[in-house]
Amino acid sequence: MEYRRLGRSGLKVSTLSFGSWVTFKAQVDVSLAEEMMKTAYDAGVNFFDNAEVYADGASEEIMGTALKKLAWSRDTYIVSSKAFWGGQLPTQRGLSRKHLTDACHAALKRLQVEYLDLFFCHRPDESTPIEETVRTMNDLIHQGKVLYWGTSEWDSQQIMEAYGVARQYGLIPPAMEQPEYNMFRRDKVESDYRRLYSEIGLGTTIWSPLASGLLTGKYSQGLPADSRVHLPGYGWLKRMFESADGQEKIRKAGELQKIADEIGHSLTNMSLAWCAANPNVSTVILGASKMSQLTENLKALDALPVLTTEVMEKIETVLGNKPAPPPQF
Ligand code: NDP
Repeated sequence: MEYRRLGRSGLKVSTLSFGSWVTFKAQVDVSLAEEMMKTAYDAGVNFFDNAEVYADGASEEIMGTALKKLAWSRDTYIVSSKAFWGGQLPTQRGLSRKHLTDACHAALKRLQVEYLDLFFCHRPDESTPIEETVRTMNDLIHQGKVLYWGTSEWDSQQIMEAYGVARQYGLIPPAMEQPEYNMFRRDKVESDYRRLYSEIGLGTTIWSPLASGLLTGKYSQGLPADSRVHLPGYGWLKRMFESADGQEKIRKAGELQKIADEIGHSLTNMSLAWCAANPNVSTVILGASKMSQLTENLKALDALPVLTTEVMEKIETVLGNKPAPPPQF
């Protein structure tokens, strides 16, 4: 395993990490969660991602039970939670001081830990003043309940506003953002945040590196019966895959498969390594509903050395982007 600094922070996070969205509870029970987390940890993964909204808290309960059983020393792993969707009532949602504090306490209890290493604002909240959110995160850190705070799917302007407020009042600024990043979704990481890496030292913990499985290539023969698209509540994903845009992505995955064959890696691993090849990515959060998927994905960094300029250009061509012309001197 390779370890990267989470942005400008001193925290060293494994380049591959492991998350529980969709999978924990719906596809992965406590005993499989424990086995998968052990497999990941033994392979050097030190970061486990979660959120209050995942399976309405049950995902954190499962991870907490697994962590208890695994009994790893607390100084050897990083665990996160995210707050935004805690329930239906107005006090249970958003980024108010009230909800962030309640969400943090509830996550600590479900995960059975004394502090969260990373605590994310899961989405921006226009109905809460940014100063209230920044002050609350700062307070949770000073109370020893959180080590680093960050955002998820905020735009660069919102992140800069939080950073500016923190600097203005001597508070702790956000250290990281959790954006979607994969071959099909690149705008925020490659364009919008471009200046934030050097200007504020933003780290990124990127999600859906396989675009929910599209970049495994397995959808070329239809939607397999055991795929997440058939789970209750994920009909939107099925509709997305069946849309014209989804079908075009499935076609492109077929083309990408040929490049993966040429370099001797699975499309899954080429796609994961492609994410890790971006130096502004601090960690690629893996998702897996089966042990076999996890063990395959944990080999992804083996594909990094073969992602040469030539291979990267071929990928760009399939994705429909013309490679940049060589510089003219
Ligand atoms: P991916 O895009 O990598 O999708 C993972 C899914 O793809 C698996 O659950 C499985 O689905 C399929 N898959 C994975 N590996 C293989 C394989 N080797 N062969 C075949 N199929 C495979 O990531 P996720 O969308 O799961 O996101 C990863 C993590 O990111 C989440 O767990 C969560 O922690 C975080 N996240 C954060 C969000 C945010 O808003 N901050 C939003 C979403 C995720 P199947 O069961 O269908 O086979």
